[in-house]
Amino acid sequence: MNTHYDVLIINGDVVDGTGSARFSADVAISGERIAHVGDLSRATADKVIDASGLIVSPGFIDAHTHDDRLMLSDGDMSPKVSQGITTVIGGNCGISLAPMPRNIPDPVTPPLNLLDEQGGWFRFRSFAQYVDALSARPAATNCAMLVGHSTLRVATMDDVTKAATASEIAAMRELVIEAMEAGAIGVSTGLVYPPAVAAPTQEVIEVCEPLARYGGIYCTHMRDEGDRVIESLDESFLIGRQVGVPVVISHHKVVGVQNHGRSAETLAHIADHMTRQPICLDCYPYDASSTILSAKLVANSTRVTVTWSKSLPEMAGLDLSEIARRMNLSTEQAIEKLLPAGAIYYRMDDADVQRILRFDDTMIGTDGLPHDEKPHPRLWGSFPRVLGHYSRGLGLFSLEKALHKMTGLTAGKFGLIDRGVIRQGAFADLTIFNEQTVGEAATFAQPVAASIGIAGVLVNGSVVWEEGRPSGQRPGKVLRREHLPADTVQ
Ligand SMILES: [Zn+2]
Repeated sequence: MNTHYDVLIINGDVVDGTGSARFSADVAISGERIAHVGDLSRATADKVIDASGLIVSPGFIDAHTHDDRLMLSDGDMSPKVSQGITTVIGGNCGISLAPMPRNIPDPVTPPLNLLDEQGGWFRFRSFAQYVDALSARPAATNCAMLVGHSTLRVATMDDVTKAATASEIAAMRELVIEAMEAGAIGVSTGLVYPPAVAAPTQEVIEVCEPLARYGGIYCTHMRDEGDRVIESLDESFLIGRQVGVPVVISHHKVVGVQNHGRSAETLAHIADHMTRQPICLDCYPYDASSTILSAKLVANSTRVTVTWSKSLPEMAGLDLSEIARRMNLSTEQAIEKLLPAGAIYYRMDDADVQRILRFDDTMIGTDGLPHDEKPHPRLWGSFPRVLGHYSRGLGLFSLEKALHKMTGLTAGKFGLIDRGVIRQGAFADLTIFNEQTVGEAATFAQPVAASIGIAGVLVNGSVVWEEGRPSGQRPGKVLRREHLPADTVQ
């Protein structure tokens, strides 16, 4: 075909994101979309990328992020595009940056402080104002945003340690409607966290009630991921059935030594319920978790590392036991001195992580915390770790299967039309990488590092990452969830 395109990616092996086997093909881009896939040896282009010996994949979709503020404060999105991510799902775990119709408490209510410890970024009185800000100054990545139930509680309630009153529920429901009208894709909860722990199941159902008519989705960091994990799954499924929307179990895991191995039970339970209602889940590929520092979470961990501390910032990166020893305090006393703070908790079993990753409907997410001083390495390394360590190294699944979990599966579950797949007409979100070398460089000791083997990343047809650095282009869009009759998988 003798045609001229904006961009040509030649000589690569295409993995199209559907789970199908790879094939050799050139990919042509015109504007924001893929114009042709096939033999384009006679075509010309303004920019030609030689992908000889490399994989050309749909750009990765990060199913679980806390990038609500990062997109505004550091729109190059280096932690994400450096690992091949082109779209992020934000507003997870009940915490979204918007809407905040009244002043954010000082100090910022944990875990909302994971988005901004100072509080100044909680400046959007409506979700529409937030979407306007993202659209006016786009980031390098696309995003699809959830509105957080904990944010709604802090935004509307006088006392979040209680169940919401009927009028508070009505106020939250109005904010859900406003968010969905503005382009939110659904509601997230974090029922384990202080601002939401007092919310009964019925409150969540009533707050989420408008979701069905907007074709929304319900994503949940469950009330319990340990001893009561089955009960928490049942609560999540009940909410999904009552509201009439698909459920996403966030960062699925089983925590605490006494629960190691129980992923066999949770996945069977999820699979059983999937025959009756739309459910899926995401997972990050590590056996340590990370969130705010809390004595409750320390209790069932074998080791804890502090990621940041407002009162003792010099302790970031040290183990809690070491901090307690240096300060000559008990663990409990040391926690008190450090708060507010963040931590990494070693409390999972890699056999469970592997079993969850292998599950057919598990999407890959980072759950990265971009504002932590010493973040969990999942922020920079999750996707290449799945491709390198778990797929190539351990042979957990094929490269095609791994990529499906990062692209086509995720686009289908979140209703992101023409994303997560390589075919003519789809948006040109693409990641080019070396399957022999791809892997994470971020470690627990040195968590801020661009991954290995990612050769180039394009978002909406524009190069956002090449030669190991951001290009400076910021072509990201705010994506809406297309109204799907069921949770169609592309
Ligand atoms: Zn969470």
